Amino acid sequence: MARISIIGGAGYVGLAYAAALADLGHEVWGLDLDDAKVQALSAGHCPIYEPGLAELIQRGLSTGRLRFTTDYGQAVPGAEFLFLCVGTPSDEQGRADLSYVVEATKSLARHLDGHTILVNKSTLPVGSVTLVEGLLMRHAEPGVTYAVVSNPEFLREGSAVHDLMHPDRVVLGGSNADAVQRVAELYASFGAPIVVTDPRSAELIKYASNAFLAAKISFINEIALICEQLGGDVASVTSGIGLDQRIGRAFLNAGVGFGGSCFPKDVRALTMMARDAGLDSSLLTAILDINRRMRLVVVEKLENSLGDLRGRSITLLGLAFKPDTDDVREAPAIDIVDALVAREARVRVSDPAALEHVEGRWNGVELIEDPYAAAMGADAVVLVTDWNQYRVIDLTKLANSMRGDVLVDGRRVFSPAQAAAAGLTYLGIGHSSETVSPRAFDLASYGAYLSMAAD
Ligand code: NAD
Repeated sequence: MARISIIGGAGYVGLAYAAALADLGHEVWGLDLDDAKVQALSAGHCPIYEPGLAELIQRGLSTGRLRFTTDYGQAVPGAEFLFLCVGTPSDEQGRADLSYVVEATKSLARHLDGHTILVNKSTLPVGSVTLVEGLLMRHAEPGVTYAVVSNPEFLREGSAVHDLMHPDRVVLGGSNADAVQRVAELYASFGAPIVVTDPRSAELIKYASNAFLAAKISFINEIALICEQLGGDVASVTSGIGLDQRIGRAFLNAGVGFGGSCFPKDVRALTMMARDAGLDSSLLTAILDINRRMRLVVVEKLENSLGDLRGRSITLLGLAFKPDTDDVREAPAIDIVDALVAREARVRVSDPAALEHVEGRWNGVELIEDPYAAAMGADAVVLVTDWNQYRVIDLTKLANSMRGDVLVDGRRVFSPAQAAAAGLTYLGIGHSSETVSPRAFDLASYGAYLSMAAD
């Protein structure tokens, strides 16, 4: 068993790793500069909402194999592996902000002793292994030895513990074969395929994976908008194309688009990497443009149905960027609330886990956990995050709380028939229901094209 320290050990990725590696029998320090989180964790409280994680932390603390600290001097000396898990948010231009990585690397470098393997788990732009090696060379004491391995992470918030223990693959990129082999051994018990490559390819695998998944979402959203214009139903289109094994069904869910701490920033960062290298990627730019647009599609539907939104009462079901997490970073709901507030609508937001993260963010927006209470007196309800609680919501009870009858389904969870049975007017995305009338044959040019073909 190894002695491992996780740098950024109170964050979403770092904490999941700290707890999981301790559970697998390793001696683990979770190091983080966030004193409040470290204290909470040391006292057995999990500061983030992530299914299964609190239990894992409790187990690690009780065995004594999992400990938390803010002190590099405690966590780094004697560590065989250091997992770098600090954040890499977007900077103002959309590049990955490397300041946390640089700061953390300098701090840990000063405490290195013996031989340490630094594992880059943060999502880092191409060339970062070289950057980190350079920092270690400048800031570590002479005589200590180290190796840096890129090991990008693919876990999803909401199923982080499961994903971490059952990865589809482990990607390792490093020039020191012995270090790569030792990191591979840490993952041996997962039984996953291990892709060993050079550091730059490893770094690119992460960005390319996220960009591809984001592209699938934006692609199906573009098809959804085409369905609305021409009169199809994107759910059927998705089933039809998803059965093609070359395409696959996963990540083809039309709706308000992707958010979170990864897809938006990683697609932006890859776009900027390409641009910095002299390539303008119109595909990557389009992924982001379509995604931005989808958030406003919901607001357009509300305006089409209710007219001027000033003074109208709108309730959002869901704030977190996806179910089973309390993470609100770049959540679609935030942009939707911003747009509604700008139109002077009266907004209420319900969410089972994330409300505390937006307390004080907007003037006059009410945060109410109970969805039925949040819908009280609403002209329209918008489903933004498909939490299970909302999937099984009693639509009749919801309708009875409301003043109006509009249900905007931003995640295609309900059917128009279900909504109608509850007395609600259904507005889906990518759907030509009786309430969003297909405009296909009103379009002069399209109509002309069809009639020409018939002649
Ligand atoms: P996060 O913001 O939740 O966690 C980062 C942690 O690092 C914070 O707790 C912060 O206090 C700590 N930190 C910052 N500077 C530090 C320093 N100098 N020393 C010690 N601790 C420091 O971020 P996250 O969501 O866990 O993401 C971390 C990295 O993993 C990012 O690069 C992200 O792109 C990548 N990633 C995230 C996910 C995900 O689902 N969240 C999935 C795959 C990859």
